[in-house]
Amino acid sequence: MPHVVTQPCFDCKYTDCVVVCPVECFYEGDKMLYIHPDECIDCEACVPECPVEAIYHEDNVPEEWKEFIALNAEQAPECEVITEKKEPLADS
Ligand code: SF4
Ligand code: SF4
Repeated sequence: MPHVVTQPCFDCKYTDCVVVCPVECFYEGDKMLYIHPDECIDCEACVPECPVEAIYHEDNVPEEWKEFIALNAEQAPECEVITEKKEPLADS
């Protein structure tokens, strides 16, 4: 039961979250980040770091964003790992 990145992350990518993750399980998509469900250890360190409250425990993802559970699982293995904070998307 991993944590999941949801809609508010789209076009944000502030990436405050990635630096606190002890297992480096954030992956960078074109428009948002994803958490690899097989790697996340549910430490919750990333949750308070996200300024837009985009990260939820899988069990607590709001109903309208449930599809992000599958999206994180699908996309994370396709993307590059991200471990350092970077500039947010300029055009967001
Ligand atoms: S801090 Fe939140 S919105 Fe920003 S990249 Fe991380 S999950 Fe996405
Ligand atoms: S809950 Fe912990 S292990 Fe999972 S993504 Fe957040 S910081 Fe990483």
